[in-house]
Amino acid sequence: LPREIFVTRVNSAGVDIADRDVQADVLAKVDALKTRSWLATPTVLAGEGGEEHDVFSPIDTSDVVGTALYPTSDDVDLAITRAVTAQRRWDAVGGITRADILEAAADGLEANTIEFISLCRREAGKTIIDAILEIREAVDFLRFYASEARMQFAAPVPLPGPTGEQNRLHLSGRGVFATISPWNFPLAIFVGPAAAALAAGNTVVAKPAEQTPLIAAHAVKVMHEAGIPNDVLQLLPGGGEVGGMITSDPRIAGVAFTGSSATARAINRSLAARDGGIATFIAETGGQNAMIVDSSALPEQVTRDVVASSFQSAGQRCSALRVLYLQEDVADTMLHMIKGAFEALDIGDPADLPTDVGPVIDEEAKEKLDDHVDTMRQRGFKVWQRELPEITQKGSYVAPTIIEINSIEDLDQENFGPILHVVRFKGTELDKIIDEINSTGYGLTLGLHSRIDGTRQLVESRARVGNFYVNRNQIGAVVESQPFGGEGHSGTGPKAGGPHYVARFATERVITIDT
Ligand code: GLU
Repeated sequence: LPREIFVTRVNSAGVDIADRDVQADVLAKVDALKTRSWLATPTVLAGEGGEEHDVFSPIDTSDVVGTALYPTSDDVDLAITRAVTAQRRWDAVGGITRADILEAAADGLEANTIEFISLCRREAGKTIIDAILEIREAVDFLRFYASEARMQFAAPVPLPGPTGEQNRLHLSGRGVFATISPWNFPLAIFVGPAAAALAAGNTVVAKPAEQTPLIAAHAVKVMHEAGIPNDVLQLLPGGGEVGGMITSDPRIAGVAFTGSSATARAINRSLAARDGGIATFIAETGGQNAMIVDSSALPEQVTRDVVASSFQSAGQRCSALRVLYLQEDVADTMLHMIKGAFEALDIGDPADLPTDVGPVIDEEAKEKLDDHVDTMRQRGFKVWQRELPEITQKGSYVAPTIIEINSIEDLDQENFGPILHVVRFKGTELDKIIDEINSTGYGLTLGLHSRIDGTRQLVESRARVGNFYVNRNQIGAVVESQPFGGEGHSGTGPKAGGPHYVARFATERVITIDT
């Protein structure tokens, strides 16, 4: 049957923050939560639990947003034991019931919009707009994977065979999936992989990033209230140590990870080293994302899209633009306009609606980014940097920066923050720069601004990236419209929010019956 029969879903409308009444109401309610203290604890404990960690806001490091209780190894063991026991029952309820429950969870998240805006702001330093977009994406993931469960997991697929032989293909859960999620999308990419694993009939132990356990804990609470049994989805707050306890357990059937390429490799090694079945590994990692702008591009459009791609979310998206290639003939004009928009960026507290750029996640991230800028200055590259306003001294802010370099090869790592590098190229050098971009080994997003079809076709056919955006910005992939994820150092696929994602969390069984 065609997909359209099952897919009646539309993406979430979110909050119409441009409406003055809605805006006043939302801002007042978010403000009322600004001193609430939140808690993240493992879903079950074998004893008293392990260490307690306060979670500080990146906006104001004296704001303790709440506390996370980390599990001990006994707690992790208990969680996995419960998840193993619960899995068969959860698989057996079938795709339709699981879809109903995931849709109820989506409604639950929407009903908690204010709490999540407040948490996204305080715990992750997100602007109000980014927080709204993030909640929408989490809701969309839940509803989209629910519709996939209805479509792919409701009934077995009949397969051909000779007369008298019956063949059918069943998709079912693999077992217990571990999800290890990042702080930069503490709600959407916490909920998304867990929702896909659940849709496919797995039980889930979910470890959020250590910087953002509180948002995750609230999401798990809402998902439990919506009907996901609490042994089917369990929270295990913690850092790398807790992650290691989970991934080294031979009962884990698969891991869905989003974060750095280095951590992905470490997890892959730990999965390979343990006993037990061979685990499925799904990783969405970093990028060294470029945008190519040729002399046929529209300067106003380029300016808007470059600034959004580099500085929205303080550059803390794996899709974000890191290296802008400007064709020499137009480079001065384009740079002049981009710098104009860059100078106009509002840097400050994400609680203020006009704020464009908030803090980076923590002091460690800030130091790394500031060090990069210092190094580039010492190496003699031209640097333009914004002054940080007084208010930012309370938190972990990095001044938005533009650095002119000679080539993407001048960079040895992804710089996960509000830093844009610019390279000038000659019109005859298109092939050479595509080679350079490919040779980083990353393959996540690529932008192109050009009105020349031949150029678009050339770049499209040669670039090895997961998401190629033409004449627009290169962030904010929309569920189902732009399934998201890369290749090479950027990840294993499948693409989040795409038609092949949920099936990768499943195992396939074929039943053959002869008469
Ligand atoms: N999907 C996000 C986007 O398109 C990026 C996800 C990430 O940063 O991990 O901007």
